[in-house]
Amino acid sequence: MKVIDILNNGKVNVSCELFPPKAWDKLEGAKQVVREISKLNPSFVSVTYGAGGGTSDYTVDLGREVQNFGVTALAHLTCLSTSEEKLISVINNLKKNNIENILALRGDRGEENLPGAYSHASELIELIKKHGDFCIGGACYPECHPESSSVSADLDGLKIKADSGCEFFTTQMFFDNNVFYKFMYRLLSAGITVPIVAGVMPVTNSNQLNRIVSLSGSGIPLRFKSIADKFSNDPAAMKQAGIAYATEQIIDLVASGVNNIHIYTMNKPDVAAQIMANISDIIGK
Ligand code: FAD
Repeated sequence: MKVIDILNNGKVNVSCELFPPKAWDKLEGAKQVVREISKLNPSFVSVTYGAGGGTSDYTVDLGREVQNFGVTALAHLTCLSTSEEKLISVINNLKKNNIENILALRGDRGEENLPGAYSHASELIELIKKHGDFCIGGACYPECHPESSSVSADLDGLKIKADSGCEFFTTQMFFDNNVFYKFMYRLLSAGITVPIVAGVMPVTNSNQLNRIVSLSGSGIPLRFKSIADKFSNDPAAMKQAGIAYATEQIIDLVASGVNNIHIYTMNKPDVAAQIMANISDIIGK
């Protein structure tokens, strides 16, 4: 099934995310995560693509495994350090495995980046369109992409992606829903009307919080900082508080009319299960 049809179904949709292992001997463990997440009946499951493309085969393997459980898979694909030949081969492999949805991404810049075919996700979108009938999504940033010179330059980049054929956007994680609501107004005023999937990250340990701040640039509101300060030395309490915080964010989003929510579950089926249980009546599952 195409993700765009799920996003437009008028219901509240909650999707989950997995990342592939770095080595084949961890693949069985990752497939077990797929089984546990699939049992929660998410609207779809996205599978990330390793930086530089090193785990590309596992992204396809896990996507296929997700679909074996009757759940729609959304495969991520990045283009920054990858040749056009390799990109076409991954696209064809996805097609062969009946994976109809791709989240087209640039990938993060790092010192190890090899010269790749493209410098922006919009170019990858054009390539995907040439090689199959996929539903294509992209990434967006309620707090602005860290490399954008201004909010309006960031919106220009998004508009290029939407005009290239991006049918929906998933947001970078945010911890303050007001940031997301303001972003939605900016999109409307820029004429970007494709569905937006709100990305919520349950932060369940304090190391994760430090990584998030340095990698994504997402702002941490004072309310969440206090939680992290209070419970960072008590792993069980931090986990419970992180799940409660993400649950509250989701309830507020749904109450405000946001129908499409993505949980950055990060291979933690127990965390995903607790959030899904907390919102089961709210989302009607
Ligand atoms: P782009 O859309 O290319 O945007 C990058 C910058 O360039 C922005 O500042 C934008 O405003 C600007 N821009 C965009 N298009 C143009 C244009 N045509 N001309 C000029 N400027 C332009 N990384 C991974 O390695 N693997 C993953 O699986 C992965 N999944 C992700 C999922 C989500 C939902 C998100 C939000 C991010 C994910 N990332 C992943 C990280 C992502 O690769 C980085 O955030 C990266 O820095 C930007 O990717 P992008 O696709 O948004 O890039």
